[in-house]
Amino acid sequence: MGMPGLSFQRKQFVSRLNRLYRRSELYKLRRWLKGKSVHWLLYLALSGLALAIGLGVHYYQYCHLYAVRVDGEEVGLVRSPEEMECFVKELTEKCGSYYQMDLFPEQEITLTREYRPGEMDDIREARETLRQRLGFLTDAVMVIVDGIPVAPVATEKGVEQLVEQLCLSFVNESNCVELLDVQVLEEVAGEKCAVSPEQVYSPGEIASLLMGQKKEREMLIASRGTALSRSGRHKGEKSIPTVHVRSVEKVTTEERIPFTTKYKASGKMYRGESRVVTPGKKGLKKVTYRITRENGAEQSRTVVSSNVIKKPKSRVVERGTMNRFAWPVACGGRITQRFSAWHRGVDIAAPLNSSVLAAESGVVIESARGGSQGNYIIIDHGSYYTLYLHNNRNLVSAGQRVSRGQTIASLGSSGRSSGPHLHFEIRRKISSSWGGWYNHPAINPLQFF
Ligand SMILES: [Zn+2]
Repeated sequence: MGMPGLSFQRKQFVSRLNRLYRRSELYKLRRWLKGKSVHWLLYLALSGLALAIGLGVHYYQYCHLYAVRVDGEEVGLVRSPEEMECFVKELTEKCGSYYQMDLFPEQEITLTREYRPGEMDDIREARETLRQRLGFLTDAVMVIVDGIPVAPVATEKGVEQLVEQLCLSFVNESNCVELLDVQVLEEVAGEKCAVSPEQVYSPGEIASLLMGQKKEREMLIASRGTALSRSGRHKGEKSIPTVHVRSVEKVTTEERIPFTTKYKASGKMYRGESRVVTPGKKGLKKVTYRITRENGAEQSRTVVSSNVIKKPKSRVVERGTMNRFAWPVACGGRITQRFSAWHRGVDIAAPLNSSVLAAESGVVIESARGGSQGNYIIIDHGSYYTLYLHNNRNLVSAGQRVSRGQTIASLGSSGRSSGPHLHFEIRRKISSSWGGWYNHPAINPLQFF
């Protein structure tokens, strides 16, 4: 018996096909042609016409090419738009992998299907032209400092990294420094822009641009010019803002404490002489400061705490109270003429025969009678000479050693004198011997009393 069900289905299918055929145009045409005699020439003409139409349609199709335009300007004709699109995509990717960035063509590329009879497509030429003409841009973020654009970085994160780098550039790395706060005083923002890949800066480069020296800045300004003009609204801006990084540090240091000096009077030394009895010693303290800096330069500091580790030790100095010379008239007397350019000593008037005293210990080198000087005495004190003129009587002789305050003469009015007085002189000793009245310069005796 086989499969009766299947053969029944086949019959049904064939009869459905027949029904469709009878309804079709082809069937109608055959019925119309039946019994009609058609000349063979007509057949030939019809088939020729069909061929011509076919060829025409084909030619019409053939004359349709794709015009490649870059920013509206035609750069070539191609037959396959896909091939062109693929080429642009490859070129973009190739360039992008070189810069390690996502790029897109700077110019607008359009492919338009146009009826261009008589023209030839040339994909190689179109490719070459595109290769030369096409520029690429990348999405970037323009760093804007206080409203002034500086340079683009790759991403928003780059702006954050820049701020971080700026802050870090002034941080003092040391274990006695604790950074309390650091901030850029200017507002640093980012604004989306499209720039050439070679114009994208690294955050580090922009940090050194903002913090750098003038020359360095100018060089970078020159190279970023086009990037700025591309970003549109900032045309012509040349200046780069200066950024200020404020940091607050807690710094602990050890500092020396200076010692003070205590003075003690000593009657054994002349006035003006001194001697260190105990040398001083500096102390030590640990001081913690809060220092505010701007771009590393200290602006202010306050002491947070201060602890003395070692106290300083005072220096003790003995100071002489003794006058270099003793007053040469026992009863004091009265100054009648002071030291001047014309009077090389001091005149002390006192009653006749008052005691004239040695102003300092020394050796008498002259005790004699002069002309205008009258009876005079010269005593050598090592670095000074003292002179006593117009004495009534000299009581010591040359070569004799005398002590400070010892009576050496009685006051008088001998020589050129208008009354009893002592003419007293002090000479600074500049050579080993007396040698004469003009060898040793006279100094004002009153400076010693
Ligand atoms: Zn005098």
